[in-house]
Amino acid sequence: MSKLSAADILSQLIQFDTVSRRSNLELLGWVETYLETFGVKSRRIYDDTGKKANLIATIGDPTVPGYILSGHVDVVPVDDQDWSFDPFGGEIRDGMVLGRGASDMKGYVACVLAAVPEMTAKPLATPLHIVLSHDEEVGCIGVRTAIAEIAQWETLPKGCFVGEPTDMGVIIGHKAKRAERVVIKGFTAHSSLAPTAVNSVEYAARLTTFISDLGRNLQKNGARDPYFDVPHTTAHVGVSHGGSMVNIVPNHTQIDFEVRAISADNPAELVEQVRAFAKETLEPQMQAVKPECSIHFETLSDTPGLDTCPDADIVATVKALSQKNNHSKVAFGTEAGLFAEVHIPTVVVGPGNIDRAHKPDEFIKVSELEGCSLFLSNLIAQCV
Ligand SMILES: [Zn+2]
Repeated sequence: MSKLSAADILSQLIQFDTVSRRSNLELLGWVETYLETFGVKSRRIYDDTGKKANLIATIGDPTVPGYILSGHVDVVPVDDQDWSFDPFGGEIRDGMVLGRGASDMKGYVACVLAAVPEMTAKPLATPLHIVLSHDEEVGCIGVRTAIAEIAQWETLPKGCFVGEPTDMGVIIGHKAKRAERVVIKGFTAHSSLAPTAVNSVEYAARLTTFISDLGRNLQKNGARDPYFDVPHTTAHVGVSHGGSMVNIVPNHTQIDFEVRAISADNPAELVEQVRAFAKETLEPQMQAVKPECSIHFETLSDTPGLDTCPDADIVATVKALSQKNNHSKVAFGTEAGLFAEVHIPTVVVGPGNIDRAHKPDEFIKVSELEGCSLFLSNLIAQCV
């Protein structure tokens, strides 16, 4: 394999259907072969199934603090979406690369890989670490094993760039997100005998009201972070399933709710308030009728927020590299908070626009890839 443009590499990457539920090993195999062409060794960190892995490659001296270039290679599904082209065709047309993941976020990964010949052309005084992850789109799951390993390195990287699509804007923060599933087990009976039963839909409704009141209170009285369009923490119920017939008292209801928190609020504490209401107020009432009734909580995902100090070195560095002097925060979650959690200063900066993500006819402009490549060239020049 010789030198390829970011657009050519992206076209290749798109052709590997790496929807989160599938294996990403074929894509990683392609990346490994590509890296080997330039003498770069890489390692895989497998998940428990052995069907997916993260990939880490270091260019330069690993005993010197360097920068991480991080991106996920899984994508969201295309099921039930109306595409006007093949989402996994990787077609390049009219100055755009077309397909699932073009913006979110194989485009950035392609730019990083396209820059590898430049990274290896001259010795790097500051090393660069390429970190590719799996299962980001299902709760930032995959990257955690890679970060756990990096956190054990003798020399911690001095910064990390997560290339989610920000139109190359400098993003220093996003909210933390915690999602919970609640299963309410009531007691069934014919509806004519309703008082002898425990209606799971009714208890779920009371819990739902508690969660929406919590959200309303945060909106009215909660802490503020003016960087966000919705400048406060939110809480909402997104799923509610229960009951089958109007003449049967339902005994099984499930609700899924989430909290998206600014850094002033702790999502675990907010979830604990919900749990306490369920366990201390609702469950005793249910069990007074039938002791076997219960309310059970399960955490579906828990991703820390990002709140990098605007004065941090990494922010100044990224502004200089991208020739921007402003920074902002974004509504969507990323893996960045997980890097920050192990004390690696992190910013989100990448090509393309989040508005195209997760939708049909996803694309990225070749000019956007070129903008990112310029950013990486500037970074490499600084690292030489
Ligand atoms: Zn993404």
